[in-house]
Amino acid sequence: MTDETAPQFRSDVTVELVRSAAADSDVIWAARVSTAGEQSLEALQEDPEKSKGLINYLMRDRHGTPFEHNSMTFFISAPIFVFREFHRHRSGWSYNEESGRYRELEPVFYVPGADRRLVQQGKPGRYEFVEGTPGQHKVTTEAMEASYRASYRAYREMLAEGVAREVARAVLPVGLFSSMYATCNARSLMHFLSLRTKRENATVPSFPQREIEMVAERMEDEWARLMPLTHAAFEKHGRVAP
Ligand SMILES: Cc1cc2nc3c(=O)[nH]c(=O)nc-3n(C[C@H](O)[C@H](O)[C@H](O)COP(=O)(O)OP(=O)(O)OC[C@H]3O[C@@H](n4cnc5c(N)ncnc54)[C@H](O)[C@@H]3O)c2cc1C
Repeated sequence: MTDETAPQFRSDVTVELVRSAAADSDVIWAARVSTAGEQSLEALQEDPEKSKGLINYLMRDRHGTPFEHNSMTFFISAPIFVFREFHRHRSGWSYNEESGRYRELEPVFYVPGADRRLVQQGKPGRYEFVEGTPGQHKVTTEAMEASYRASYRAYREMLAEGVAREVARAVLPVGLFSSMYATCNARSLMHFLSLRTKRENATVPSFPQREIEMVAERMEDEWARLMPLTHAAFEKHGRVAP
């Protein structure tokens, strides 16, 4: 029998696309209303090459609103420190997160994996990360796990004495996993991706924390599958949100 109060340690994140209404054709009909009026829906299947050209033009010239007529809802489970960064993205995003007031929080905690670069070098805003030594990985894993175990024990002790969940949770660290639904559209997702991924081909470089980038990469994979022409145009034009 597994002990539900025994801490679990994870180095990965969960990202699932749970619902979507998002296709390249949504961009086309929204854009073509300017010239075709209510016939824009009928013109959809006319010429795929023309559609590609139109999406590229909209992306290049930053005509952003046609990229808003679609919707993607993701279930995400990641450490609280990732959610703190995530929730700074306000425009075109809706969030609902599990509550630490209404339910007992489960003991799932983040520990960096062996491939997580541990050592920061360089100037603020332009940090580079390099591999940690085996000793640095060992101390990180051991210190985190010991700290997580102690804080979760304190949390459980307070709950056992009848202290409210909303009070007892104060001892839990930002490495605790939380979960949420996040709904966005292609335009708001592109803005998020431009800031939360680090790519050589980006016109404007960004230096995100690796853990939010892990979430962003998984979201980008799902979106690219749904809207391949829009994703290709985003790549072609330097990953700048229109
Ligand atoms: C690498 C990195 C490091 C960061 N470091 C820090 C940090 O040290 N401290 C910190 O506090 N934050 C930090 N942030 C968070 C950052 O300041 C933004 O809050 C976050 O990236 C969300 O960006 P945004 O406001 O453009 O996105 P959104 O909130 O989604 O907004 C999208 C766009 O809508 C427009 N917009 C939205 N709201 C307004 C408004 N009120 N007025 C005018 N225009 C608006 C803007 O054009 C904006 O770009 C960091 C972000 C990154 C990527």
